Amino acid sequence: MTQASPALLEKTALETYVPPAKPSLIGLSRAELAEALGGIGVAASQRKMRAQQLWHWMYFRGVAEFSEMTSISKEMRGQLAEHFTVARPEVVAEQISNDGTRKWLLRLPSGVAGEKAHEVECVYIPETDRGTLCVSSQVGCTLNCSFCHTGTQKLVRNLTAGEIVGQVMVARDRLNDWADRETSNGNRLVTNVVMMGMGEPLYNFDAVRDALLIVSDNEGIGISRRRVTLSTSGVVPNIVRAGEEIGVMLAISLHAVRDELRDELVPLNRKYPLAELLQACRDYPGASNARRITFEYVMLKDVNDSLDDAKLLVKLLKGIPAKINLIPFNPWPGTAYKCSDWDQIEKFSEYIFNAGYSSPVRTPRGRDILAACGQLKSETEKLTAREREALRAMAMTD
Ligand code: SAH
Ligand code: SF4
Repeated sequence: MTQASPALLEKTALETYVPPAKPSLIGLSRAELAEALGGIGVAASQRKMRAQQLWHWMYFRGVAEFSEMTSISKEMRGQLAEHFTVARPEVVAEQISNDGTRKWLLRLPSGVAGEKAHEVECVYIPETDRGTLCVSSQVGCTLNCSFCHTGTQKLVRNLTAGEIVGQVMVARDRLNDWADRETSNGNRLVTNVVMMGMGEPLYNFDAVRDALLIVSDNEGIGISRRRVTLSTSGVVPNIVRAGEEIGVMLAISLHAVRDELRDELVPLNRKYPLAELLQACRDYPGASNARRITFEYVMLKDVNDSLDDAKLLVKLLKGIPAKINLIPFNPWPGTAYKCSDWDQIEKFSEYIFNAGYSSPVRTPRGRDILAACGQLKSETEKLTAREREALRAMAMTD
């Protein structure tokens, strides 16, 4: 699948984010909350305690209004509401797949007057033993992986920490999944988070780090780091940093085992080739047989799905505590790639299984609502105002 000219490694500059006049406190750490309180005149001696109260109401209880924070004095609540909100991204549409997968279209302010608001998607995938939320880190993506639809989107903006945490909070809101609304057996619906939505999380490092530290804090949203996975196309310098500063599970979008092919599928490979990427994985702090690195491998017919590829894959991963996740390619309008035939996926999977790797084939979920990997923001971009309205109406009927 050679292209006439190689795709650009990265797109143009990022859009800038201009915060609203009355900012949301969502996304702030304890220290930042204390600082924000200082900014509205709360005495230094009180800030830490107040920040702790806010933290509990925002991230543990999930309340959306200051007026519900009953342990905080009425006067202070009024003062807070005058300067801040606890708003999350606005849900524009909710779609529910026939397999139970839910996709939310979220609207974010563009920050620039007169400019169209940005939109991102967030997907909830219920399974028997867990509920996984697939979260976006950017509007679009600056990288251009040739098989990924997100990569074809022109507009790119980094999400703020608040917009990333906000996606988890929206899911908890919509699923009625906050601590005090827990089901009687104590089960939560959102048990896992994967940074596998739109965008390259390691190109938005600080916001992703700050957000994931909030998501995994056990006095708040409380999703343990072992249940949070960050997927990267291979931003080598930030891989070890992610291990040190965030400590979540790592997934690598590998997709090819030879540099020549990976340069084409994942153009970032030209900057950080396979040898460097795999070395960063060997150096990933905390990787062990109990905490394996996931290698994602999208199955593209006649491109990367031969048994020779499987053999080379096993060879490359030698010495790395790894598991391999085979992803059937999800087609999108205009792509030249095809998904590998099922029997080829099985042969490939069998080879790596026999070599000692667990190699689940990821069942595509939510295909009917374009919620599967690499399909995010596919159709919504093209919707007419009327169709959009219909989707919005859908979101309101729960
Ligand atoms: N940018 C990050 C995280 C988001 S993509 C990354 O690339 O890792 C999440 C996963 O979906 C990646 O492994 C990506 O390669 C894969 N993916 C992208 N487009 C796909 C498609 N059309 N079909 C199947 N998987 C796809
Ligand atoms: Fe970006 Fe990941 Fe898609 Fe590549 S696969 S274009 S890095 S979102």
